[in-house]
Amino acid sequence: MPKRPVVVVVEDEEAIRRGVVDALRISGYEPVEAGDGVSGLRIARNAGVDLVLLDLLLPMMDGLDVLAELRQTHPALPVIILTARGSEEDRVRGLRAGADDYVVKPFSARELLARVEAVLRRSPERPHPVVRIQGGTTVVDCARREICHASGERIPLSDMEADILQRLAAHSGRAVSREELLAAVWGLREGGVETRAIDMHITRLRQKLTENAGDDCPEWIVTVRGKGYMLGPDLKLVTESPAERRT
Ligand code: CA
Repeated sequence: MPKRPVVVVVEDEEAIRRGVVDALRISGYEPVEAGDGVSGLRIARNAGVDLVLLDLLLPMMDGLDVLAELRQTHPALPVIILTARGSEEDRVRGLRAGADDYVVKPFSARELLARVEAVLRRSPERPHPVVRIQGGTTVVDCARREICHASGERIPLSDMEADILQRLAAHSGRAVSREELLAAVWGLREGGVETRAIDMHITRLRQKLTENAGDDCPEWIVTVRGKGYMLGPDLKLVTESPAERRT
């Protein structure tokens, strides 16, 4: 029997923690519980841990501090933060501090398990970033940061446009929120860019990708109402992995 993935649940509200632990156990995971930040950090650092679910408001040690400490010793350990609705700033700070994803409270067991599964699935793929995205006869070369149409025309992407595409490609199959794009692509500067700026860059990207493209041009960036943006379902992602290399 394969090893059950070990998931550390750091959450001080017992009712939530029990619910999460039960849902994980039923779904084939091995949950380990912690009720405060200090023990959560200690347990998360144990050998054999596959993923950490981390509440942000914790006694003894704040969740963001736990994350920062954990990243010092375990830079690649998957971490999903649990945040309260409306605390956009916390989510952005969490993602900037190195969280892989977040789930907003109150969440359903199904939603949480879907995120856990998705983060675990993609974590081994991290060393293999997407190098090309193909839509119809148009190809985006992520390394060269340019769009190549079948006609031979090449259109350069700005750094921000390329970063947005790569972030969407790294999370293909789910919507990426504006604040996550903002945090990942820009970082948050003092008095910085607003999430609306993302929309402007998306609009420009869509224009560049579809102008002068072939008749078979698929939808490149889908707007998911209330959630953000995701790559279109008909695009083909080519990663660095030799098995998938098609040059
Ligand atoms: Ca809490």
